[in-house]
Amino acid sequence: MTFELLEIKPEIIKALKEQGIESPTSIQKKSIPLIKSGKDVIGVSKTGSGKTASFGVPILESIKPGQGLQVLILAPVRELAVQISNELKKFSKYMRCSITTVFGGVALEPQIRDIAKSEIVVGTPGRLLDHLERKNMNLSRISCFVLDEADKMVEMGFIEDINKILSCTPKNKQVLLFGATISHEIEQLKKRHMKDPSVAKADVHVKEEFLEQFYYNIKPHEKFSLLVHLLKKEKSKRTIIFCSARSTVEGVAKNLRNNGIKVEMIHGKLSQNRRLKIMEGFNHGHSNTLVASAVAARGLDIKDVTHIFNYDLSQDPQEYIHRVGRTARAGETGKAITLLTQRDHDTFSEILSRYPVKVNVMPNETFPRIFFDSAQQRSFGRKGSGFRSSRSNDRSRRSHRPNRGSYRRR
Ligand code: AMP
Repeated sequence: MTFELLEIKPEIIKALKEQGIESPTSIQKKSIPLIKSGKDVIGVSKTGSGKTASFGVPILESIKPGQGLQVLILAPVRELAVQISNELKKFSKYMRCSITTVFGGVALEPQIRDIAKSEIVVGTPGRLLDHLERKNMNLSRISCFVLDEADKMVEMGFIEDINKILSCTPKNKQVLLFGATISHEIEQLKKRHMKDPSVAKADVHVKEEFLEQFYYNIKPHEKFSLLVHLLKKEKSKRTIIFCSARSTVEGVAKNLRNNGIKVEMIHGKLSQNRRLKIMEGFNHGHSNTLVASAVAARGLDIKDVTHIFNYDLSQDPQEYIHRVGRTARAGETGKAITLLTQRDHDTFSEILSRYPVKVNVMPNETFPRIFFDSAQQRSFGRKGSGFRSSRSNDRSRRSHRPNRGSYRRR
């Protein structure tokens, strides 16, 4: 399958090829023909699957230059809105099409000027509503409305804002809704705003041949030492270390820096500006290691990640899939390493019963014990507990699951 076979305009294909995009991904193959035919579409896919192009390419196909605002794309957070805009700008390099990104925390005036001359607006719900209430934006000629990361928007409580924005658009428009999962609330959005939508579903399984997954059984107070040991041992190009709580992100980042490891950190309590700068820095290679909370990093396209560490496991099994999916993208290989403690056991079993993943146990390793300064973060590490060599095996945990060389889906 090629983009030519999908009858995409040559100027878009030329721009895609310049981005190394030669043949469509699974979600693109499924959604592009449906969107081109004018149907409402529910796209079930996550970031990394080529999602942006799967709606962006057919949208660009339909744009009429110079005829005002035709497409509105809603994203839950500023970083994702910027990312979508940047991708669309690359894809439309050889077309006449103006794209404006609209988000809060910055001046309104430049956005008002840009909206007036744009065919496409990509924005976050709060600032879009602000512009609508101030009558800075006219949605009466919108022919296509896209809701990206719809599941996250619902999770973040944007459903009323979405309804309000949609009420300002014409009835006879095309509605595209993309998300990693289709929840009950999304069903409601579908019933209220979509006409007989078709579903395009990406192949969601994690590809075993590209992504190797491992876990270590470890005691909580040895986690940090093992992490440092593995960071030094693994030949990683770029690494993301996921932690569930903001305080853990801060504690781990601070202690890695104390140990001479250069890291960036991102979590939901940092200002949007700060998060955007950190992500730009990371994407430009200012540092090779990012310590992140999953929510802050969700939906962002972070390139060339070779290693994912789950420093701790989220209680939400789906989060594991989101996290490990940050590596082994677009045909590259990757490694996901999870540090499991006794309390993660049930969640981990649930992940494996829900998803077709194979995660191998790693044998005991000897590693130097590293001091963890828990001044900021008290749940991990034992202050002053010595610097002896330690072993990664938690025997009590092992005996709980005898003879289990790897976790596999049951
Ligand atoms: P997305 O799911 O939109 O966040 O895309 C993830 C990454 O895959 C982006 O860097 C895209 O430029 C890239 N990409 C999108 N479509 C393709 C494709 N058909 N082949 C290779 N890479 C792609």
